[in-house]
Amino acid sequence: MSVFDHPEFDHHEAVHFFEDADSGLSCIIALHSTALGPAAGGCRHWQYANSTEALTDVLRLSRGMTYKNAVAGLPFGGGKAVILAKENAPKSRQLMHAFGRAVHSLEGRYITAEDVGIDVVDMQAVREITPHVTGVSKQSRIVGGDPSPWTARGVFNGIVASAEHSFGSGVLKGLRVAVQGVGHVGYQVCKLLHEAGAELIVADVNRETLRRVIEEFGATQVGIESILSADCDILSPCALGNVINQQSIAKIRAKVVAGAANNQLGRDEDGALLREAGILFAPDYVVNAGGIIAVAHEHLGDGTEKEVCDEIDQISARLARIYSQSDETGLSTNTVADRLAESIVRNATKPDSRLIA
Ligand code: NAD
Repeated sequence: MSVFDHPEFDHHEAVHFFEDADSGLSCIIALHSTALGPAAGGCRHWQYANSTEALTDVLRLSRGMTYKNAVAGLPFGGGKAVILAKENAPKSRQLMHAFGRAVHSLEGRYITAEDVGIDVVDMQAVREITPHVTGVSKQSRIVGGDPSPWTARGVFNGIVASAEHSFGSGVLKGLRVAVQGVGHVGYQVCKLLHEAGAELIVADVNRETLRRVIEEFGATQVGIESILSADCDILSPCALGNVINQQSIAKIRAKVVAGAANNQLGRDEDGALLREAGILFAPDYVVNAGGIIAVAHEHLGDGTEKEVCDEIDQISARLARIYSQSDETGLSTNTVADRLAESIVRNATKPDSRLIA
């Protein structure tokens, strides 16, 4: 199948494939849109079943970044990178250097950062090769570094705004929240929920990360197969995508789904199924934009901690507007968000670099 015929191909501006024999790097970088600025989005290091699965992931994730950056009001387009993890080529400085060379060859049209399987140390290795990377450091007056605490702040705000809409109050004390995946973002979301008095139900495939949230926040553990159907008020998917589909919607007992994971819906139509089932869905790229907001400011070299926090806190009002519009029109919340993002991108005037002033 050609890339152009792939069901997830959506007028992506470019899809680049890279191989480096010495380090064992195989990666795909997809630039969905540069209409609003350079394509910005994280790099995922993941063991895919095959390269088609990796292509599907990068096409979906890069499109999601276009929508996320547009709705967050950032001067960036959407892109994403996936590194195909291999047992014979473990993550190493050499591998990240090879990835850095791939990013550098795109001459700033793609800005990379952390995503699943990638941490600040990896991005620091990429920075040794190219300046087109962010989420690298925390300088005294400029925010940035690990994006996950910023993402968690936005997700927590999104949960509060969603509770307000569904339950008439944003007070989380006594509410039961099921968190799927308690890694970088999930752990921080649990911390904020615990501080707000919510009861936590958690699942993760990693025992060590689970132990931490059980010990620190008194969370109740359930099996990974039971978390989506847990008896709770709010479900917060913070692991991987494609978790909400016809089968899982039939089992969800929560009245709100609001989490960090990208591409939570298996298909766009699943948003309408959630609405029919009376479940409020917080569009993932709207609530999980906190991290990209912080690292975008790191890259631009502006924004104090307070300014960035204020910008992330606008996620609540943005969600409330999406919810009102969904109620008024009967459209699913993800459709309302998509239309908003598409209109922002459509109205952008793309600078034409071929014109010489
Ligand atoms: P992470 O790898 O640190 O955490 C993911 C956690 O999910 C891990 O602890 C993993 O063991 C667990 N997990 C994997 N499969 C699972 C399953 N089937 N059931 C339960 N747990 C499972 O990643 P992260 O940085 O915390 O990101 C989590 C999600 O949020 C991803 O979808 C990512 O794309 C999205 N996201 C992250 C950021 C960020 O700032 N890191 C920003 C926006 C979106």
